Amino acid sequence: MTLYPSYARPTTLADAVALLGSLSAGGVVIAGGQELMPSVNHGVLAPQVYVDIGGLGELRGIRETAEGVLALGALTVHRELQTDPLVAARLPLLAHAATRAGGGRQVHNRGTLGGNLVAQHPLYDLAPSLLALAAEVEWVTCDRTVRQPLALMLADSRHGLGTNAILTRVLVAPMAEGLGWAYEKLKASGGAYGSANAAAIVQLHEGVIASVRLVVGAVAERLIDASDVAAERLVGRRFDPGAGEELARAVAARVTTPLSDAQGDGAWRRAMAGVVARRAVATAITRAGRA
Ligand SMILES: Cc1cc2nc3c(=O)[nH]c(=O)nc-3n(C[C@H](O)[C@H](O)[C@H](O)COP(=O)(O)OP(=O)(O)OC[C@H]3O[C@@H](n4cnc5c(N)ncnc54)[C@H](O)[C@@H]3O)c2cc1C
Repeated sequence: MTLYPSYARPTTLADAVALLGSLSAGGVVIAGGQELMPSVNHGVLAPQVYVDIGGLGELRGIRETAEGVLALGALTVHRELQTDPLVAARLPLLAHAATRAGGGRQVHNRGTLGGNLVAQHPLYDLAPSLLALAAEVEWVTCDRTVRQPLALMLADSRHGLGTNAILTRVLVAPMAEGLGWAYEKLKASGGAYGSANAAAIVQLHEGVIASVRLVVGAVAERLIDASDVAAERLVGRRFDPGAGEELARAVAARVTTPLSDAQGDGAWRRAMAGVVARRAVATAITRAGRA
């Protein structure tokens, strides 16, 4: 006898986390389903109960909090990140990164920010920028609410929230005036995913690099926060071809276990990590210069 999974669509966050808590590992959160349903269709996952969070108003909307931070609801879709005026003005790096996600309009209109981050897919496009922006995430279970750096969530195993938690919001401080930023996505194939990508944020002082954040993705199982490497090579210097070359070499050296898949083999991906890092920093510097 085939047992079909059940489906629940709670209307409040409290009901949703109570249900998940009672189901233990048998329940699976579904938001846009753009990541989850392919996994089910390919037999990777076989949930007993789908808990559809699409009806939870608490997870929608983009607003500024009293502490001056932008709170992005977990159900925010790529299209909203691309078009929301507050995101465009305060988090242009994230707005731009959202335009680079593949999959076309259907994915952009259904795929959610929360699903994109919880999936922890190494080739996805939103996490590098959010990590460079030092974003925080908030998640809720039936007995607690946790706010933690996104970096901590991403350092955990895949689906790091556990099976009974719902990611509710992503919290990001607005980018300061005058910062330069860039998101580079290198695509070797006609598909959606990049072979290497990099998010950079740079601050200049009289043409000299005062600070730099740099995160590289799509080249290893986990994102590489190369801000330390970049700061060591670049802070206090002007960006010239020599500095760019040094940076590219140092970033490539950080890719100790590169991915080798349809997006390219490991040795090439390692080299491309350096290339996108250099390009992202160069573009961010140009933008900072204009600002
Ligand atoms: C053809 C195609 C091309 C794509 N190309 C790209 C691309 O180039 N770049 C890119 O970044 N993305 C890409 N995507 C992925 C897409 O952006 C993600 O699938 C999407 O953002 C995930 O969101 P979702 O709402 O569909 O998540 P779902 O599929 O609903 O969920 C994904 C995972 O997260 C969990 N989950 C979801 N929301 C929550 C929450 N709030 N709290 C706790 N757990 C949660 C689910 O249980 C599941 O494990 C592509 C997808 C497709 C289908």
